[in-house]
Amino acid sequence: MTDPLSLTGAQAADAIKAGEISAAELFDFYRDRAAGDKLGIYLWVADSPGVASGTPLAGVPLAVKDLFCIEGVPSTAASRILEGYRPPYTATSVRRLVESGAAVLGKTNMDEFAMGSSNENSGYGPVRNPWDTDRVPGGSSGGSAAAVAAGVAPWAIGTDTGGSIRQPAALCGVVGLKPTYGTVSRYGMIAFASSLDQCGPLTRDVTDAALLYRHMIGRDTCDSTSLEHPESIALPTAEGLDGITFGVPPELTSDGIEAGVRDVFEQTLRRVEELGGNLEEVALPHSGHGLAAYYVLAPAEASANLARYDGVRYGSRAGNGDLVSMYEQTRHDGFGAEVKRRIMLGTYALSSGYYEAYYGRAQRVRTKIADDFRAAFERVDMILTPTSPTVAFRLGERTDDPLSMYMSDALTVPMSLAGIPAISIPGGLSDGLPVGVQIAAPAFGENRILDAAHALERAIGFEGVPRDG
Ligand code: GLN
Repeated sequence: MTDPLSLTGAQAADAIKAGEISAAELFDFYRDRAAGDKLGIYLWVADSPGVASGTPLAGVPLAVKDLFCIEGVPSTAASRILEGYRPPYTATSVRRLVESGAAVLGKTNMDEFAMGSSNENSGYGPVRNPWDTDRVPGGSSGGSAAAVAAGVAPWAIGTDTGGSIRQPAALCGVVGLKPTYGTVSRYGMIAFASSLDQCGPLTRDVTDAALLYRHMIGRDTCDSTSLEHPESIALPTAEGLDGITFGVPPELTSDGIEAGVRDVFEQTLRRVEELGGNLEEVALPHSGHGLAAYYVLAPAEASANLARYDGVRYGSRAGNGDLVSMYEQTRHDGFGAEVKRRIMLGTYALSSGYYEAYYGRAQRVRTKIADDFRAAFERVDMILTPTSPTVAFRLGERTDDPLSMYMSDALTVPMSLAGIPAISIPGGLSDGLPVGVQIAAPAFGENRILDAAHALERAIGFEGVPRDG
């Protein structure tokens, strides 16, 4: 029998279709690995696959970030306030993947309500990085990234609001795609910041990312911000980068980036040229203000979205006094410190008299950042940067310093604010730890990104997964 661990998701689907392994055998293999996981990756593991095989994804198991609602399955967004919540419906993205033949393997740990960059904000304990278990896997989709890196899932989905697919993918040495805003329905994704949240794949390679993305996209009448992708998603085949111009923005490739990450990025630039690509410096003059704008906008939206957790409609309830003290006690007990910090920041930013000074100004900065990208894409086809300024940091290293934690997303937030697609692929190692490189393109440029990433991936030849923790 083929060693299941040696197969990517796409290869596993092919092996099932060729009769080399059955979907049930593959599911049992991964279910046992998931159940035995010691890295804190899963919050729930399925007993049985519950799908028919033979469809495009052929029954290959899928790890799902705990942010996605699945009917009858615990869905908590790693928050204590949603403990015991089993939604009566399934997120559209998950439903589409299941209808294409994916078998839900389990729900992965994450930062509570997707707020964080290290997975340490989970209400259910941290996730450890399979490359070094004293280090974080990144966040907020830390469980999904670690699951793929550790071979306790062939592939996974996560969400990215300001970097939560790309940054953990970078820190765990896997591929993570943040699609164009709106191309994947947000229906059934527990909301953090609705104008930024996007669902996407975390996979061993670029082909797997294309395959999952292909089966997630499409307009959904349950999400008014969703839209039809103008192209169908092809499996990438490119082996070169002839005629493609990559913009390298100094604002996102120098300040605050540690030396080992810069080295891998420099090597990647040389590889781009070897593959026939051109490099050109482009300016993104407002991108340096991305984090500041994001940390007004995302908490503002979060403060509104999280108002629904009041002990009445979902999950846990605390206190037995009057209504107001029940609300207060439930939210006091149910939310973690970072979530409370965001609710306070957001409520303040939206309060009357301050709204224009904070929220209004941050929205204008967001427009400027989107305009910068538009101008850059008149000169270049794609933009290349490192994904994260550092490699995986140690558990506890940034927990007492929220600002240093927020800096983790300095290179990913600008694309989120602009709503454009970006992928992170492993570029190499720095002191034995993975470094990610990010490729961004104009809206709906996923096919171009996937092709370029595929060519680079082949040239880089990163051997990362699976690694047991
Ligand atoms: N780390 C960022 C934050 O804490 C981004 C999180 C995300 O993309 N969900 O908000």
